[in-house]
Amino acid sequence: MTKEELCNLAKQAMQNSYSPYSSCRVGAALLAENGKVYLGANIENASFSPTICAERSAFAAAVSAGERKFAALAVTGGKDGEINGAFYPCGVCRQVISEFCADDFPIYVLTKGEIISLTLGDLLPHSFSNEVM
Ligand SMILES: [Zn+2]
Repeated sequence: MTKEELCNLAKQAMQNSYSPYSSCRVGAALLAENGKVYLGANIENASFSPTICAERSAFAAAVSAGERKFAALAVTGGKDGEINGAFYPCGVCRQVISEFCADDFPIYVLTKGEIISLTLGDLLPHSFSNEVM
């Protein structure tokens, strides 16, 4: 699967966003090593802190299905569903990704007409991991 295809799936996942408070629709597509793709969308909540991001939604779906090994993640989002700037994974999501993925794990951020290619190590250097336990 190309990064463009994975980003297109992330864009489709935006349609399932539940974001009545921010109007920011975010979608994520998580490619497992076996080729399966798990989609996630942000799910907001009236009390805010229970809100879950699209990236963690995708990981929750994948891990709940038994997946543990992942090949890439694509993320995109925009106010009212219009993609403009870069919706990078937040700090909490970066930590969740690091539970399952190494520093060289590819993360693609789809913006308006551009795919920003990063690694988890770019986004979360010197992460806390289970390797120190
Ligand atoms: Zn997040």
